Amino acid sequence: MAWFKKARTRIAPASKEKPSRVPEGLWVKCPDCSQIIYNKDLATNLHVCPKCAHHFRLSAADRLRTLFDGEWIEHDRDLASTDPLNFTDTKPYKGRLKASMAATGLKDAIISASGVIDGIPTVVAAMEYEFIGGSMGVVVGEKIARAIERAISARQPVVIVCCSGGARMMEGALSLMQMAKVCGALARLDRARLPYIAVLTDPTTGGVTASFAMLGDLNIAEPKALIGFAGPRVIEQTIRQTLPEGFQRSEFLLEKGMLDLVVDRREMKATIANALRFMTGVPLRSTAPPPAAVAAAPDPPVAAASTRSEPAPQAS
Ligand SMILES: [Zn+2]
Repeated sequence: MAWFKKARTRIAPASKEKPSRVPEGLWVKCPDCSQIIYNKDLATNLHVCPKCAHHFRLSAADRLRTLFDGEWIEHDRDLASTDPLNFTDTKPYKGRLKASMAATGLKDAIISASGVIDGIPTVVAAMEYEFIGGSMGVVVGEKIARAIERAISARQPVVIVCCSGGARMMEGALSLMQMAKVCGALARLDRARLPYIAVLTDPTTGGVTASFAMLGDLNIAEPKALIGFAGPRVIEQTIRQTLPEGFQRSEFLLEKGMLDLVVDRREMKATIANALRFMTGVPLRSTAPPPAAVAAAPDPPVAAASTRSEPAPQAS
């Protein structure tokens, strides 16, 4: 039976003979415009390509750094999943959790924190895509619900930065239940007349889109972010039609009325702060507002959280 066996040994990969002398991680290639960018320059530009404004994915901690004025207080840091279903797919879920914890230094796919955004005390929850695709399991749901409860008792606004593939398959129905739990908490926040801003980044899909990501008093997205419920292939096969160009991207959704704003990351903090000022009645810090604006802004806490008005004249 030797006639179909490979007689010769394989050609060795070139990389083994000539190791690269350029240290890894110093330079990054932009996937959009192919520009080679020095990693430090990219970091100072909030991980936005200086040439074409491609938004690179941001870790949860980096996200908080871009939003808060300085230090923040992290909450529920030690909440971790117990693998309630004892789930195994190609790998045991316990192993996936362990690997993600080692890779990110987090216990689950979210950081919940209290801090100050441009002088406004705010509760922010930022999702971490590197932790099992930013998926929402029991811990993510619980941390968001607790963050909202904390905001209600401290009478502070809530910002959730979404970056997720959806509900976590490995926790089955338990992860789907988080959708209802978080929505319930957001309804209580609304009744307490406190604002909630959803920031949708690339990607925001599945159960996260189907629950809290689309429930903001303002839904703000980053440019060209993939936002949707089911993937384009599933939709195409279901409706048997070719999908239009740019389908499920921020700009398309803004045009169709699914989003309120598409904002460049470098202006995100200022936009959120402006909107929060408008919705909470916190006066502008630097310059004294004109008399008309004073009359329009009543005492805090104000402005029904369900308001859908424009936050500020600058918009996207
Ligand atoms: Zn670029």
